[in-house]
Amino acid sequence: MKDLARSDPSIIKYDEVCVDCGYSFRGLSTYGRCPECGIEVIKSIVRRRHSLSANQCMSKHGRRIFAIVSFASAFIGIVVYLVGHLVRGR
Ligand SMILES: [Zn+2]
Repeated sequence: MKDLARSDPSIIKYDEVCVDCGYSFRGLSTYGRCPECGIEVIKSIVRRRHSLSANQCMSKHGRRIFAIVSFASAFIGIVVYLVGHLVRGR
């Protein structure tokens, strides 16, 4: 019986914690529920993965947007300077 539990792929063998209460799911089945708050283990794992990737995505996009905005404002500054120069030169 013990060997069967160890080879069961639904048993969590790493430190996965509940998204709501932080309870460790190690040794529990992914088909079970959190003993602390009752959330479905699989739902908690999916939600945690989702929020982690969303945060990574946000910071990546944030940096990119900042780079685009700073580049665009520098570009607009140069264009305004050149146009002003050309208009005055005529
Ligand atoms: Zn919980």
